[in-house]
Amino acid sequence: MVPDEAGPGASVLRAFDVVVCGGGPGGSTAATLLARAGYSVALFERERFPRFHIGESLLPWNVPLFRRLGVLEKLEATGPQVKYGARFYHQGTDHARLVRFANAYDGAPASAFQVKRAEFDALLLDHARASGVAVREQARVEEVLFEGERAVGVRVKVEGDAPCDVKAKAVVDATGRDALMSRRLGGRRKDPELDRSAAFAHFSGFRRAEGPTGGDIVVVTTADGWWWLIPFSDGTVSVGVVMPSSRFAKRPGTVEELFEARVAATPEVRDLLEGNRRLGEVRAIPDYSYRTPRISGDGFCLVGDAACFLDPVFSSGVLLAMSSGEMAAEAIGRALSRRGRVDAADFRTMERRYGRAIARFSRFVHGFYTPHVLETFYTESPVPLITGAVTTVLAGAVFRPSLKSRLGASAFHLASLLVRLKQRASGAGPFERATGLIE
Ligand SMILES: Cc1cc2nc3c(=O)[nH]c(=O)nc-3n(C[C@H](O)[C@H](O)[C@H](O)COP(=O)(O)OP(=O)(O)OC[C@H]3O[C@@H](n4cnc5c(N)ncnc54)[C@H](O)[C@@H]3O)c2cc1C
Repeated sequence: MVPDEAGPGASVLRAFDVVVCGGGPGGSTAATLLARAGYSVALFERERFPRFHIGESLLPWNVPLFRRLGVLEKLEATGPQVKYGARFYHQGTDHARLVRFANAYDGAPASAFQVKRAEFDALLLDHARASGVAVREQARVEEVLFEGERAVGVRVKVEGDAPCDVKAKAVVDATGRDALMSRRLGGRRKDPELDRSAAFAHFSGFRRAEGPTGGDIVVVTTADGWWWLIPFSDGTVSVGVVMPSSRFAKRPGTVEELFEARVAATPEVRDLLEGNRRLGEVRAIPDYSYRTPRISGDGFCLVGDAACFLDPVFSSGVLLAMSSGEMAAEAIGRALSRRGRVDAADFRTMERRYGRAIARFSRFVHGFYTPHVLETFYTESPVPLITGAVTTVLAGAVFRPSLKSRLGASAFHLASLLVRLKQRASGAGPFERATGLIE
């Protein structure tokens, strides 16, 4: 393995075609595809896997990506929970919305998976290894090395060793929310409307719904945020609450007390958790949304959360991370095979496609926190095109949506404007009172 060849104080070690920083879904995807295309790839991951990570509900459009990676059968063999849709409820009302992925357009698979990320991420990383990637865990990338504006490698610190330099023709920053390279690119731009924090834990003894909907993610929207309940195939469940960061920061007690108080105040969640036993601590994480203004340059690009993080309400993070990892691998592979070098211009198509996909999700995410859009979402539409198009976005079809689904999505947003007028005329309803959602 690469840095093992380093003596104390050693500087330059072996050179690779590509170095990937970070072994989450984005990094594993990029590394696997490049190695399978015949390039020499090193991946450095700071932690030792398996390690806990949040982000456990996947989308149908992940499935074809697993197939292209060659990992679908391995994943299915682990017996993950199959999820056929999502169930949304608005607290204290009888408003509910059942989403069936089978009703989505554009050929979406009818199901997706719920996964424990410790196992899932380790599976993807092992698959990268088996595909020929030189994976090194407990190896922290300290910095990306530049000659002028061109990335030429990384300085990496393997636990117990002196830092060493590894040269590469291209560097992929897949360091997640640490966003190793973002400072160099102008820092992360926070979305002030989506400044949220989350607290979450796993429970055993969950009584899921009978039948095929039992594996669905359950989302409960409240006056100032929302809950997720993600059932796993071993009978446990992931439960999390999302709220404005200001409210989280001003909590009177511990994170655990806040979580318990919130469970007690939300009958829809309290009832589902009755008799359950919490497994381990309540964890917390800021989940504000941000973007890095530029995500590529000469010899480098950013993928996944290192490039952009979008509020997790539609479970889009892993799909976006893996899809951007795939696009990065395509761009780098094409450039290396043509010129043996990767320039900023080689990432233009990726930047454009990724930017559009983020924008499509983002419009719905912002809408989710806006009363008139939330009401439109919860109201059965008389126009099947609208229902189908919303389901299509929730299934993750944001990269190449058909004209039909784009028209349907626009019709949804148009319909929400009519609801806004109605809300103005009729005064505060359950959704208007939810204006605490956006502070
Ligand atoms: C509260 C919350 C709920 C979420 N729920 C969902 C969900 O249900 N579904 C979904 O799809 N997404 C969800 N997400 C989003 C999801 O967690 C992320 O989008 C996804 O993990 C991004 O993958 P990634 O590979 O870009 O980064 P990560 O998965 O974060 O992987 C980055 C890796 O880089 C490593 N690393 C960091 N710095 C260095 C360094 N300097 N050197 C070497 N290695 C380094 C880290 O150890 C880590 O393993 C949620 C997020 C939050 C905050």
